[in-house]
Amino acid sequence: MPSFVIAEKCDGCKGGDKTACMYICPNDLMVLDPNEMKAYNQEPDQCWECFSCVKICPSQAIEVRGYSDFVPMGGSTVPMMGTEDVMWTCKFRNGVVKRFKFPIRTTPEGEANDYADLKGKDLDSGLLSTQEADGYVLVAPTELA
Ligand code: SF4
Ligand code: SF4
Repeated sequence: MPSFVIAEKCDGCKGGDKTACMYICPNDLMVLDPNEMKAYNQEPDQCWECFSCVKICPSQAIEVRGYSDFVPMGGSTVPMMGTEDVMWTCKFRNGVVKRFKFPIRTTPEGEANDYADLKGKDLDSGLLSTQEADGYVLVAPTELA
């Protein structure tokens, strides 16, 4: 189910140029109504429920209604971001509340290196980065016909 903004909680990120949810959405779905200073998802059909806006919202004003396999009808999952971890508050429809804390990084901030495993590889060679020169050779799709 796509994201939706709880209007009473949204403060429009206090009038910044670009709200946190606008900044983070990979699909550019979130927009701000400058008159009401409330954000909304302008095209819910295009939302892939990545939870990025839910997690970044400083006012916890965005929810994605979870599918029933992990959030039964009437339940909710609300994250609270910290610098080291994210705390999820899960509310079940019978009133039970449970909290789970997960680390948000596997490497210290600024330490991630996408190219660490590619040292010594010739990135201009035309081979896949994981492919050895004398190893498995891919057959082009046109040759399969
Ligand atoms: S990030 Fe949250 S508070 Fe900021 S505009 Fe979006 S919904 Fe509103
Ligand atoms: S859940 Fe993801 S795709 Fe959907 S509005 Fe939020 S950031 Fe965009």
